[in-house]
Amino acid sequence: KMAEDNCIFCKIARGVIPSTTVYEDEDFRVILDLGPASKGHSLILPKKHFANVCELDAETAAKVLPLGAKIGAAMKKGLGCAGEAAGQTVMHFHMHVIPRYEGGPANIANWVPGTASAEELTEAAEKIKGCL
Ligand code: ZN
Repeated sequence: KMAEDNCIFCKIARGVIPSTTVYEDEDFRVILDLGPASKGHSLILPKKHFANVCELDAETAAKVLPLGAKIGAAMKKGLGCAGEAAGQTVMHFHMHVIPRYEGGPANIANWVPGTASAEELTEAAEKIKGCL
């Protein structure tokens, strides 16, 4: 397929392009990001091409989170990284799913918490729920 032939992450995941690999199995390669947000910033790359989280097959999706946990545990042990210091404000596991829009903001890594009225929250929730 064209998308896969032109995809740099496919080439890295399959070892065609070299990378600093911290973990590899038959389904994934985990590499260090070349422009890390912090020391050890890693990318979990499925060896199969999926454009985004919406396209992941169930089998791959089921394996990503345990792998992330495994890598995270190794980071805590090997790099001495923190839990609370990471900016997590509620120490109960959660995963942000942040939609991106044309026109920005371009950088959500250091996002400034916005505001939303009860009406805006309800409206957005209804639009998402209507598509589930
Ligand atoms: Zn790809």
